[in-house]
Amino acid sequence: MDESELTVRRIREGTVIDHIDEGRGLQVLAALSINGSDGGVVTIALNVPSAKHNKKDIIKVENILLRDDDTNKLAVIAPRATVNIIRDYKLVEKHRVSLPNSIGRIFMCTNPDCVTNSGEPIESMMDVVDKTGRVLKCRYCGRILDITKLRYM
Ligand SMILES: [Zn+2]
Repeated sequence: MDESELTVRRIREGTVIDHIDEGRGLQVLAALSINGSDGGVVTIALNVPSAKHNKKDIIKVENILLRDDDTNKLAVIAPRATVNIIRDYKLVEKHRVSLPNSIGRIFMCTNPDCVTNSGEPIESMMDVVDKTGRVLKCRYCGRILDITKLRYM
């Protein structure tokens, strides 16, 4: 049994985000606004030895299921992540994150002159032009999103 299995088994209801790229766990927490304010247990493990990829980060959140927006953020920040849904201590669903063809609403365009940053009630729309390279392009102004400087709407 590896450490990630142990982590999965200790949760009764909730989500385990496994195989987060090493060093990105805290960024994922912030992006998903996971801060423990709902009273549920949140566990984060950084630099866990991983057979597949040297080291990884793991986040375990009790009583929280990810929404599509969360999964899309995760796919951009930590493309190798897996989402494990736990019910009654059992792993009931496990899937890898994947990028959709476009992502609306969540990422702010990095172009300050973009219409989506003008104060108008226009939601951002990013087209995923390269899923492997995680290249996202603003549909309104054509700016390529800098994924090292993500900001959320
Ligand atoms: Zn734009």
